[in-house]
Amino acid sequence: MNNPKVVILGAGYGGIMTTVNLQKSLGVNDANITLVNKNDYHYQTTWLHETAAGTIHHDQTRIPIKDVVNSKVNFVQDSVVEIKPDENKVVLENGELSYDILVVGLGFESATFGIPGLEENAFMISNINSARLIREHLEHNFALYHNEEEKNPARLNIVVGGGGFTGIEFVGELANRIPELCEEYDIDKSLVRIINVEGSPTVLPGFDPALVEYAMNSLESRGVEFITGAMLKECKPESIVYEKDGKQVEVPTKTTVWAAGVKANSIVEQSGFQTNRGKVEVKSDMRAPDYDNVFVVGDCALIMNPENERPYPPTAQIAIQQASTVAHNIKAMIQGQELESFEFISQGTLASLGHNDAVGVVFNKYKLFGWKATFMKKMSDNRYLLKLGGLGLMFKKGKFNFFY
Ligand SMILES: Cc1cc2nc3c(=O)[nH]c(=O)nc-3n(C[C@H](O)[C@H](O)[C@H](O)COP(=O)(O)OP(=O)(O)OC[C@H]3O[C@@H](n4cnc5c(N)ncnc54)[C@H](O)[C@@H]3O)c2cc1C
Repeated sequence: MNNPKVVILGAGYGGIMTTVNLQKSLGVNDANITLVNKNDYHYQTTWLHETAAGTIHHDQTRIPIKDVVNSKVNFVQDSVVEIKPDENKVVLENGELSYDILVVGLGFESATFGIPGLEENAFMISNINSARLIREHLEHNFALYHNEEEKNPARLNIVVGGGGFTGIEFVGELANRIPELCEEYDIDKSLVRIINVEGSPTVLPGFDPALVEYAMNSLESRGVEFITGAMLKECKPESIVYEKDGKQVEVPTKTTVWAAGVKANSIVEQSGFQTNRGKVEVKSDMRAPDYDNVFVVGDCALIMNPENERPYPPTAQIAIQQASTVAHNIKAMIQGQELESFEFISQGTLASLGHNDAVGVVFNKYKLFGWKATFMKKMSDNRYLLKLGGLGLMFKKGKFNFFY
């Protein structure tokens, strides 16, 4: 292939790491690389729960794209509207691009499973702006509490739907942030409720039971209430309704954060790709089954775990590993060489419970609790920054508050 046009859609973990790997491995005359993204920054999706709770500033979470891509890459700030894979074209809000090789890395959207009122009344942790809105909304309600004649408990009840990783990591941050807000707005801490509603009999379903117990104890000791085995039935502007043991319960709240489901960016399905659960079930070399010049990476791609015949969960970890294979295979295509197969190597699973506590399993067998898990999680975040933008970026945006 002679100087092909390589277009990468989305600067999330999958897209930006594909771009950075390509800019390292290809020469200026090997390919014409274009990266398209809505914003002029990449953000750490895995830190959005901290931005939402207000425990870190959003500027720590976002990284200007110009700081990590060089002049080999043409960056286009625009929104993708549609992909036309039969015509090798991408429609943007402000124009159109043609490509020889395409990488789709448009990430995820929240999935509300048709629960009445969620779409309209709940908050979602899906990007920097939605996370900032949650932080502002929390603070606004705390600020209003003493300024109303009739005290409204709905302002101080925070409901988090979903006890998976995102929900648990978010309540962990809230458990750290709420005492600060209470002090700031003269509110008695005992008036605030942080309620986690989970449909399964336990939070962090599928995780090691000892780690789940540790996580629940740690969070309960900091004021989090768990309502497990309960299904969210409706989200209203001033309350939520859940059902447990056949009974419906209504909780007054002005803050419901839905953290119980994501799906692939709907542009993928709408663009006519063959999909499975809204994602493209990629071939082993990460290409879409019907299009040999289209790679799909991250949350838009579906890959089966051969050990249990179930899809790998969508994670940043797998997106970053896929980006290496995609970049390698694009170079191989250009040079007429054989493409390699993607193989996921799990580096472990770690869930933070606030900035100073965590649980996890590393190297598939070692269970970690408390500061050791926190240390490992922050090291893994820093390692990503090192890979993305070198030592400078790691020291600028990294997490070095290991023990407090
Ligand atoms: C709160 C939270 C905590 C998490 N914690 C972890 C964790 O600890 N470990 C882990 O491994 N995973 C974690 N995850 C999951 C992980 O963040 C995702 O799996 C990962 O972000 C997927 O990467 P991606 O490259 O597919 O897309 P994303 O990171 O979602 O990026 C998609 C990019 O595409 C851009 N984009 C979207 N639509 C358009 C459009 N139409 N036009 C142009 N650009 C567009 C977006 O702006 C974004 O830059 C967490 C997720 C959340 C929400």
